[in-house]
Amino acid sequence: MEIITAVRGFKDILPEETGRWQFIEAKARDVFASFGFREIRIPILEKTDLFKRGIGETTDIVEKEMYTFLDRGEEYLTLRPEATASVIRAYLEHNLYAADPVAKLYTIGPMFRRERPQKGRYRQFHQIDVELLGLDNPRIDAEIILMLIHFLKSVGLPEPGLEINSLGCFSCRPSFRKAMTDFLKGKEDQLCGDCQRRLHTNPLRVFDCKNEPCSGIIADAPQLPDFVCDRCRDHFKNVQESLNVFGLSFMINPRMVRGLDYYTKTTFEVTTDFLGAQNAIVGGGRYDGLVKELGGPDIPGIGFAIGCERLLAMIPVKNESFSAKPDLFIAALGDESQQLAFRLCNHFRMSGILTEMDYLGKSLKSQMKRADKFQCAYTLILGEKELRERKAELRNMRQGTQETIGLDGIEETILKFVRAR
Ligand code: AMP
Repeated sequence: MEIITAVRGFKDILPEETGRWQFIEAKARDVFASFGFREIRIPILEKTDLFKRGIGETTDIVEKEMYTFLDRGEEYLTLRPEATASVIRAYLEHNLYAADPVAKLYTIGPMFRRERPQKGRYRQFHQIDVELLGLDNPRIDAEIILMLIHFLKSVGLPEPGLEINSLGCFSCRPSFRKAMTDFLKGKEDQLCGDCQRRLHTNPLRVFDCKNEPCSGIIADAPQLPDFVCDRCRDHFKNVQESLNVFGLSFMINPRMVRGLDYYTKTTFEVTTDFLGAQNAIVGGGRYDGLVKELGGPDIPGIGFAIGCERLLAMIPVKNESFSAKPDLFIAALGDESQQLAFRLCNHFRMSGILTEMDYLGKSLKSQMKRADKFQCAYTLILGEKELRERKAELRNMRQGTQETIGLDGIEETILKFVRAR
């Protein structure tokens, strides 16, 4: 019978890979904690309306990438395609803003988008997501970017390329939208099918298009920074000055519009040369209207999401550096020795010593081979003859030396050896 395989675009993360995952997650927790962020854990499934309202009906995510289903004929539910909307939902549902006007939150977990799977793009992928609610000071934009870059460097990402832009606010963006519509007028026929539609629903999205005719056309398009109002311009200038305080290098990318509707003012991406093509591993920005849009008070916010798969593909830490080698292997021959091995093995484990033994009833020679394969530090040999003489052999696998030790008080003797190395 054929085995059943995983769903296309859904990937297993195998035991030899999980050490690297735990490494970036632990670093994120450490770094974020020192900046005053706390973890929030939110459900994977939400009401579809949350994303429709939060992300925007005319975004690619909502239009074609969500995993949505009718739950037993009752209501439409969606596997979360991103975390921001869910975090804000929880923030509002639990009145977190009443307890403290500023909420600094992060969450780590899987997201789901039905995109075309390819290298670095999956249908289930993971994000480390950070959200800060309640402050609209431009220094906060710089602070959050500083925390991000500090984290990326601390996991070993060489040269994170930071790009920033200002998307303006709800009062200045309409003039840009109009300029874009005017610019694209008469060029409809040259645009791809998607962009012809976007022209009417959301002309800014044309900037996101990777199709050849569209990217050529928008090369001469009006640029966002030329349309932002004085307040947004000041805000953006302040963000840049605050980034300079920390000597953070950045590039202003006036074409960066980001794929979600909720962004206002500062947006940013960290890109790297991912397998030859420039690709974002982090996307983020300010979303001052989103909390209100989701039914809450007028509270500003800013956040970012790091793509874990892409980050892991770019950092030099190797799987091997996380493979734990046993401290001790117990090779035992005969029923009585096996019984003693079983007791000792679990005793040592409960004392925090990584211990392995053989349960297959193999010969002493093949058990020693297994100990070698594990690259363990010590092997305890419990043969039938040794047991009769109430002795055991303890072999130091690295030095190739061996000692005879008595069975009485063997637990303490071994703990002493293992802990001394
Ligand atoms: P976004 O939520 O679209 O701003 O994406 C933030 C980050 O999540 C991106 O920069 C990627 O690193 C990652 N990401 C988004 N979509 C995918 C995907 N389909 N597969 C893998 N990573 C993704």
